[in-house]
Amino acid sequence: MRFADVIGNAEVAKALVSMADSGRVAHAMLMYENEGCGALALALAYVQYLNCAHPVNGDSCGECPSCRQMSKLIHPDVHYVFPVNKGPKISDDKPTSESYIKYWRELALANPYFTEADLQRAIGIESKNGLIAVAEAKFIINTLSLTSVADGYKAVILYLPEKMNQETANRLLKMVEEPPEKTLFIFITHSPEKVLQTIFSRCQSVRVMPLTKEEAAEVKALNPFDDSEEYDRFMDLFADLMRAVVSGDLQGALECGEMAAALESREKQKAFCTFAGQCIRKIFMIQQNMPQIADVAEQEKEFYDEMAQRCGKGFCARTITNIEKVVAMIDRNVNSKILFCDLVNRMYLGIWSR
Ligand SMILES: [Zn+2]
Repeated sequence: MRFADVIGNAEVAKALVSMADSGRVAHAMLMYENEGCGALALALAYVQYLNCAHPVNGDSCGECPSCRQMSKLIHPDVHYVFPVNKGPKISDDKPTSESYIKYWRELALANPYFTEADLQRAIGIESKNGLIAVAEAKFIINTLSLTSVADGYKAVILYLPEKMNQETANRLLKMVEEPPEKTLFIFITHSPEKVLQTIFSRCQSVRVMPLTKEEAAEVKALNPFDDSEEYDRFMDLFADLMRAVVSGDLQGALECGEMAAALESREKQKAFCTFAGQCIRKIFMIQQNMPQIADVAEQEKEFYDEMAQRCGKGFCARTITNIEKVVAMIDRNVNSKILFCDLVNRMYLGIWSR
């Protein structure tokens, strides 16, 4: 990430550049931000600048080998530490950030302005507390004790030091106090008052300012994560419903209807209806031999082709009308459990209609 790509906080960016240019690089820095204001983006741009082979006009070049590795978050000398816990996405019993690094990369590459909740969702530990445990400190110390792979700075970007317990902090402390040459720690906190004093007092603090309304809107537009989460959730529900309907499993279909009715708000229930309507239009288009208009994603092609074969020709048009009725009824405050149960019954009975 180049400074030019960071949204907002131009003053902070300028200060970081002049720090790097003057050679007075703080070994330990604590960036304090309100969640989602770009501290990680700034940290990434800063480390990229420090390690860039051909910096120009106060920014990294974006093209040298180091910049290219940074832009994929795979620079061998830059390490990421963040709160984790055991979860279904991994098998490690004592997970560290390294166990989840793939998911961290996906998330941070899609949107470096993610929130803590986004991170928890991305690594699949929504219902648990993330922690930076002592195993993490051991990993950091071992890694930093090795000589750097490239010639530049080694860096640890540690997200949410407030999630570090005393033991972890104690282990890290000496390293933070006297890091090996050309090594830096960047801590990103949302709650500086909760960062252990021993760590806090050894860091140069940098305040990352809140974004303006326009900047916040730019950040929001970057966030595909929310939508993709929603998409997966809706697609799974729709696919389960359709599979139950075409295989004559009324009980299963009704359960899907209940899940739709249990979506957290009327707005979500309507959003699911709209989504289901769009999916059914895709089935319809395939039945009409117009797959190019259906615009189905490669990984969903098999599902849609199967549905197009197994639904009667009249099913789609009728179901779309019924879905539109459900949306109108939700707006009139009709009990959604009854509405979705009725919709599912109609789909079930109408699946073979010509
Ligand atoms: Zn470069």
